[in-house]
Amino acid sequence: MVETEANKKWEQFLGYVQKRCSKAAFENWLVPIQVRDSVKESICLEVPNIFVKAYLLDNYKEDLCSFVPVGNDGEPLIEFIIPKGAPKRTPTVIKKHAPPPPSLESSKYTLKLNSFYKFDTFIEGPSNQFVKSAAMGIANRPSRSYNPLFVHGGVGLGKTHLLHAIGHHIKEHHKKLKVQCITTEGFINDLVDSLRNKSVDQMKRFYRSLDLLLVDDIQFLQNRLNFEEEFCNTFESLINQNKQIVITSDKPPGSLKLSERIVARMEWGLVAHVGIPDLETRVAILQHKAEQRGLHIPHSIAFYIAENIFSNVRQLEGAINRLTAHCRLLSQEITEDLVESTLSELFQRIPKQKVSVENILKTVGTLFQVKASDLKGTSRTKEIAIARQVAMYLAKEMINESLMMIGASFGKTHSTILHACKTVENKIKKDESLRRKIALARRQIEA
Ligand code: ADP
Ligand code: MG
Repeated sequence: MVETEANKKWEQFLGYVQKRCSKAAFENWLVPIQVRDSVKESICLEVPNIFVKAYLLDNYKEDLCSFVPVGNDGEPLIEFIIPKGAPKRTPTVIKKHAPPPPSLESSKYTLKLNSFYKFDTFIEGPSNQFVKSAAMGIANRPSRSYNPLFVHGGVGLGKTHLLHAIGHHIKEHHKKLKVQCITTEGFINDLVDSLRNKSVDQMKRFYRSLDLLLVDDIQFLQNRLNFEEEFCNTFESLINQNKQIVITSDKPPGSLKLSERIVARMEWGLVAHVGIPDLETRVAILQHKAEQRGLHIPHSIAFYIAENIFSNVRQLEGAINRLTAHCRLLSQEITEDLVESTLSELFQRIPKQKVSVENILKTVGTLFQVKASDLKGTSRTKEIAIARQVAMYLAKEMINESLMMIGASFGKTHSTILHACKTVENKIKKDESLRRKIALARRQIEA
């Protein structure tokens, strides 16, 4: 993204955030960030140190999505640069005014949960009812229902949300239990760190002393052989002590490229799938997320958005963020036109219907005013013969099948199809009206 365009977006973001945070926090954390030129479509930000980056992402990631480009995974596309020689420690001014950032070392084993990911903010529908009640069962009676609970499903469907919801619930209702929530990458990084610091025993002791271990995105353990073994040992040690484990994954256990031993262990307990929410649930999610942001969306508009964004809740959230920013910045009312202009690039297009020979015959028959059945027959009258050749030509162009298969659909051989195609190709070089007629047929078939 070029600097001027990026600067404009960043200024808008600052304007939005300034009204929502303290003056000190704004001046200490946000003002020092500079926009730089970026070669990619992302926005490039120069931050004085890693803490500023962490502060920005921890506090404003969702808001940022309304202003900067967003990737397919719903994450803001930001490239961070930290100038060489920048002080590694937190600047003293920051210490004076703003809450100090957590020390990376001491926070290593503190439980980090997203404060929005709770059971009461998780909207239920047929696609996730089962998995939600399984998660609540675990949260109410850890180690006394299913162990492990294995939750799998596509991206952005609420797996991490449910995992953290279990963590919050246990923290609140079973205060004595020792809980940890980690991403699989976090576990691997911990292990690498402790190998480097020669503190593997300490790490093992920590993980094996837990009452509840929440593991996010186990698929990242695939192809990490050494780590897989250590994870499996930790897993078995906890299960053998009847400690609760919950795992999320983008695929079911049997489809993971992991050892049979660990796959079998993961299938021991309950395997629950989280699916794509249906239209009504998507509408309910949208309205809930809008309310959280203080925005009221008319029911018909929520329907319109939910009809067009259907496979991923994270994208629905991105849509709401963008809409909120537009309405606030421009003080506009939410109308279908506003939604169309701000969100159209997020809308998912329904894949085109597969073209069939029947469809081609019908369209060509109508345009050339011959019966569709004649196109498959043997009549040699001029009108029928040319229309038949056009149908064969379009079938070869538009259907991804062998000439033999296409020939079979017409009750002809592949060489007849080839001959028809050559004839039509030659004709349209000279006959403009035929070329237009064929182009029209193609558009109608594709529609
Ligand atoms: P996953 O881990 O499956 O990729 P997340 O748990 O990160 O997905 O969910 C993506 C976003 O969608 C989160 O902000 C989450 O709060 C939201 N979300 C997903 N499902 C629901 C739901 N049923 N109700 C409310 N929010 C949801
Ligand atoms: Mg996740």
